[in-house]
Amino acid sequence: MTADDVVLSAEVFEAFRTAIADGPIDFDDLYARYDHETERFEFETTETTRTGLSEAGLHEAAEEYASYITNWWFVSSVLDDRSPDRVGFVRWLEAASEHSVPARYDALASGVSRSWGELHITATIDEFGDRSYELRHEDDTNVSADSLDAHSNPLDAREIGTFDERDRYRPLRTAPSLPTGWVFSDLSAIEVCETVDTFYPATIANWYRESDGTLDIDHWRDTAERQTGIYGIIDELDEAAVNRIAASCCVDSQCLKRREWEYDAETELAADGGSGVFPCREPCSLVVAAARKWTTLEREEPQTYEFELTPSEKEQLEALIDAVADDRTDDIREADVYEGANRYRARYLREKRIDEHGNLSGTPTHPEESEE
Ligand code: SF4
Repeated sequence: MTADDVVLSAEVFEAFRTAIADGPIDFDDLYARYDHETERFEFETTETTRTGLSEAGLHEAAEEYASYITNWWFVSSVLDDRSPDRVGFVRWLEAASEHSVPARYDALASGVSRSWGELHITATIDEFGDRSYELRHEDDTNVSADSLDAHSNPLDAREIGTFDERDRYRPLRTAPSLPTGWVFSDLSAIEVCETVDTFYPATIANWYRESDGTLDIDHWRDTAERQTGIYGIIDELDEAAVNRIAASCCVDSQCLKRREWEYDAETELAADGGSGVFPCREPCSLVVAAARKWTTLEREEPQTYEFELTPSEKEQLEALIDAVADDRTDDIREADVYEGANRYRARYLREKRIDEHGNLSGTPTHPEESEE
């Protein structure tokens, strides 16, 4: 199918004619108006300009350029243009700002795909200009839909996104750990927005606000000073500690949002904010909860310890920390004893260097207390 094959239904033409009688339409390369004095219509697209049209002439033009009319109908009626964020998102899905209506229809006929976090979303169009959407995990892009679990209810996304591939609870909905193996097919424009919102709450609304310059950012200090109760202590953390938090939690490997909040409006954090499509406008509840623990840890004074380790054992401790921080421990095979974070290597080190009280190299954590 191409843009030239689009069919204009009687219902859509009637809605178009009625709308023009109420006022001009100026949308996406389509301009149409009714002159109440001359009782004639004007009709203009990037391809044609027609004036002095009777209703029959308007009908003929509308049928010839049906893609423009159905495109207007899709946004103003089917999609409900009272939801500008959803309209913006659906138009972004089909790259509306980059292509003319006919070029877009030609591309949609064979499917236009975009990524949103780990979601792979494909928009297609039928001969009446109605869009439908398919949504799956980006790692399943080349998998046959028949071999994926089929869903149609947007709210199913809540359950799919609750646990990762290894059945671990996902406390952060925008962590890059969505499981694979599912597909939502034949969704309407409203349904695809609801499904995305269920997988990644508020990402469409915040992305849209950012695009029109109305995204309000709550920086770290705003958020920290607002906390009460057990989280009221997190405003003790200084810029260096907040930098470490952002580097630990908010980089692309941990969260698909692009961090836009900083230490405060004047003080940018050095940590990478990430390159996600949708922004993060404030420290999330997971970061605030973790910050509470880090606040209590940062209150401790450093101590000087003396440990006896071989150079390889020191390097092994460093490798263990790296493997845990990068969530690689499950990928290290039991037979791979060259890896410092190998389980047998770790057990051997514990046998050799951790005493019966759990102290590294027999060094007590609180030497004063053990002397009493
Ligand atoms: S605060 Fe950081 S971890 Fe939390 S949602 Fe924002 S970018 Fe992601």
